[in-house]
This record gives sequence, structure tokens and C-alpha cells, in this order.
Amino acid sequence: MAQKRDYYEVLNVSRNAGDDEIKKAYRKLAIKYHPDKNPDNEEGEEKFKEATEAYEVLRDAEKRSRYDRFGHAGLEGMMGDGYDYSNFEDIVGDIFGDFGDLFGFGTSSRRQRGPKRGRSLQYDLQVSLEDVILGTTTTIDVPRLETCSTCHGTGAQADSKPETCPECFGRGQVTRTQGFFSMSRTCPRCQGEGRVIPNPCNECNGQGLVRKVRQIKVHIPKGVDTGAKIQMRGEGEAGVNGGPPGDLFVMIHVASHDLFERENYNLVTNAKISFPQAALGTTIEVPTIDGTVKLTVPSGTQFGERLRVPNQGVPHYNHYGSGDLIVEIQVETPTNLTEREKELLRAFVQVQQKEGNEEHSGFFDKLGDLFNVHDDHDEKKDR
Ligand SMILES: [Zn+2]
Ligand SMILES: [Zn+2]
Repeated sequence: MAQKRDYYEVLNVSRNAGDDEIKKAYRKLAIKYHPDKNPDNEEGEEKFKEATEAYEVLRDAEKRSRYDRFGHAGLEGMMGDGYDYSNFEDIVGDIFGDFGDLFGFGTSSRRQRGPKRGRSLQYDLQVSLEDVILGTTTTIDVPRLETCSTCHGTGAQADSKPETCPECFGRGQVTRTQGFFSMSRTCPRCQGEGRVIPNPCNECNGQGLVRKVRQIKVHIPKGVDTGAKIQMRGEGEAGVNGGPPGDLFVMIHVASHDLFERENYNLVTNAKISFPQAALGTTIEVPTIDGTVKLTVPSGTQFGERLRVPNQGVPHYNHYGSGDLIVEIQVETPTNLTEREKELLRAFVQVQQKEGNEEHSGFFDKLGDLFNVHDDHDEKKDR
């Protein structure tokens, strides 16, 4: 390797130049020799690297003072062998700021190199109505990308570390200039990462991330319904370059139930009673989500009438109290009656009709149809 030039000489500044002067000098050279402006110009590229190296030393008070005292030898061990480009993007970003965009290595490409947040994940979880009413904690298996434990996310084997991509000098983009126009595209060598890994980690193939199935406990809050979204911070995929992990969103789907239908915070169920029970009133046992409850059916209850059992519905989500249990009454028409039962029913219908109970005529007419009493009556009336 050729003799290294003096850093002050490279930047063309005096040995007591201030920080601003050094920055300005580098900026001038960087614009002049930037590889984007000098495609396929190896000399320009070398000059650019040389200027960047000089600037990196002279902008850093500690490195500069060592260099002042000991020359290039004073920086051995601090610089590694050859120039380490790991801070390259920071330097360029520093000096150009938003200006960098004009040269195709601005903030957008830098962002790709920096910490990147992990992806957020969605998990569809089917729960039972019981789970939603009683509340529960369940364990789900979530496949996700996690930081590789072998390389701790660097993607490199223990004895190597990522290096600045030689194709794009860490910018993540390569630019072609034609006349006034610059065309940038993602660097094909590093896929825009700006770094390449000479010896990739065997565990993750250099990705820094590995796919794992992680068991995660999810608390199902009482009262949630289908469409509810439980956010679990940091349980998504791992970030890269020190970025934070994404979140996990657990989407709730409440399975349909054999006995109950949900109406907002109320539960609706059916109860079958006989027509004498409907007519005379009764007490029945109706199911709740975790047992039974006694329900008084008043006399004269109609088919389809809804009776309420307070507070036996779904607990309100995030506040006190519960909905009700609504029992929809179904009056069963008896089948397979014995002769004796039929006799009694005919007698009952006849009494009703003699007493001219018009109020109930609809119901008892139907009853009459059922037992052929109606026709008898009509015949009698006709006589
Ligand atoms: Zn790894
Ligand atoms: Zn590259």
C-alpha cells in the first residue's frame, strides 16, 4: 500500500483548523469526488475514501490529538486494519443533512441501515362464550421471527462482523448519473442494507433473525366480543439493528354456543313449557353459562314472550355490572296424548266456549282444531 498522505494535506487545511473549517473542506471534497458523481472512476473513489478517512479522524478530538502526536501510527488499533466504514453513513449524514438527498444518499437510504422496528403480527383466536363471560388466560403458539441467539442478531459468525458494502459504500443504493439526471436503485449486492456479511451465521444464514414458535399467554378480558383486538406490546417480530420489536394483535372470535345467543351484553336462550304451564304459571329451571337458575313464569305467558333474569348475561367490558339473561318462552303443543287427556281437553274447550271467553278464543279455537272439537261445536250450533 502506498504511503499514507497527511490528513491535513488531504483536506487541504492547516494543522490548527477549526471543526467548521474541517467540515467545509471535507464537504467540498465529498461533493467533488463522491462516487455517485464519478461512476466508474476509480481515482475519484479513492480520493473520496481518503477524504472521508481524514475527516473521520480530524472531526474526532481524541483521534485528532493522537494523530497530531503520533501520526498515522497513533491510530493503529483505533482504526482497525484498513479503514473501517462502519460510521460512514453517519459522517455523510452529518455533513450533508437533508442536502444528501440531492446526491442520492440521503435520509431514505440511511434509514434502511438504522434500527428497524420488527413487524407487528395478527393472531386470530377463537374463544368460547364461557371464556368471554368468566374470563380466562390461554396460551397460543405464535410463529414469529426472533433475534438469532447464536449471533445476537448481527448475522455474522463470532469471528467476523458485517462490513460496509463495497458496491454502494454503505448507502444501500447505487446511482447512475446521465447529464442532469440521477437514477438510484437498491444496491443489488447488499439489498439496500448497506452492509454485507463475509461469514454469515450458520444458524440464521446471516439474517440475524430466526423463525421460532413462541408460546404466549393471552388474558381474555371479560365481556369482549368478536372483533375485539388485544394488543400485546413487543410480542411481534424482533427488530433489526437494535430496533424495537413489533406488537402482537390477538383478534377475538367468539364461537357460537348451543344454548345461548349474544345480544350486546344480554344472553338469549329458549325455554319450552307446556300450555297448561303457560296458562297457569309455573317455576322452571333455566340454564346459565355456569349452572342453572330458577325462573318464575307468570300465568298467561304467551308464546315468544321474553322473560328476564337480571345480571346473568355477559359482564360489561371494562366496567362494572352485567347484562341480563333473556329467556324466550316456547309453548309446546302436546303430542301422543292418552284418551283420558284428550277427553279432559275436549271438556276444557267446551267449558271455554260455553262461557264465551272471547278473549281466549283465538288460542282455544286453535286448540279446538287440534282435537276436532271445533267442528263438533259448529255442527251443534247449526242444529
Ligand atoms: Zn445468527
Ligand atoms: Zn450495497
